[in-house]
Amino acid sequence: MARKLAAGNWKMNGAAASLAEIEALAKAHPDPTCDVLICPPATLLSRLSDRASGTAIQSGGQDCHAAVSGAHTGDISAQMIADAGGSHVIVGHSERRADHGETDADIVAKAQAVWGADLVAVICVGETLAEREAGQTINIVAAQLAGSIPDGATGDTTVIAYEPVWAIGTGKVPTLEEIAEVHADIRARLTARFGPAGADMLILYGGSVKPSNADEIFGVPDVDGALVGGASLKAEDFGGIIAALERA
Ligand code: PEP
Repeated sequence: MARKLAAGNWKMNGAAASLAEIEALAKAHPDPTCDVLICPPATLLSRLSDRASGTAIQSGGQDCHAAVSGAHTGDISAQMIADAGGSHVIVGHSERRADHGETDADIVAKAQAVWGADLVAVICVGETLAEREAGQTINIVAAQLAGSIPDGATGDTTVIAYEPVWAIGTGKVPTLEEIAEVHADIRARLTARFGPAGADMLILYGGSVKPSNADEIFGVPDVDGALVGGASLKAEDFGGIIAALERA
């Protein structure tokens, strides 16, 4: 299996001044024992990649179009993310699914585009609060996994992020038992479908991860890192999460 991964998703936050956080992070964690990824807004990707060059910090996109190029105003392709220095692309984030009506089929096409640019796809799945309260969590996540991951996925090309929608940006976190149940089920399904490649795929947890809860979350079996929104914006907070992952 690849090294564990602390991935930051800056969402629609950050301007040139935010790049100072990258320098602070690199200074505090010059040689981390886990992988570290920051996905800034597209406007910052190239500059962030330049600033992170020569450090352990990798950069990535938050989304991409499924096509390589063309008449798609406002979109960017996986090739463009690679050209800007990115190594990963998040696809299927719940905010893309909800705000832009992205379907599992769209996410398969985007993940294939990411692979086509020789980048790693971070494919997100997760249930809403209504789905959890209806006892549908495992079924929903299973359906998203089946529908959103292209055939042929491997641990080198694909990372899975389990992000309960109700835990994103809310400060609410599932119990450790609830996280364990979903991660174990995801691992079983990945292994059943992809064999040894499924056993190798990193499974990240995402949803209100902070330095104060990271140690206990990273202690859950089959949690191989985190996808972090709010707490990735400041080097001190994200550094605390990196340190917890290094201890795990
Ligand atoms: C996310 O957006 O993927 C996320 C997990 O956000 P937060 O950490 O802010 O809950």
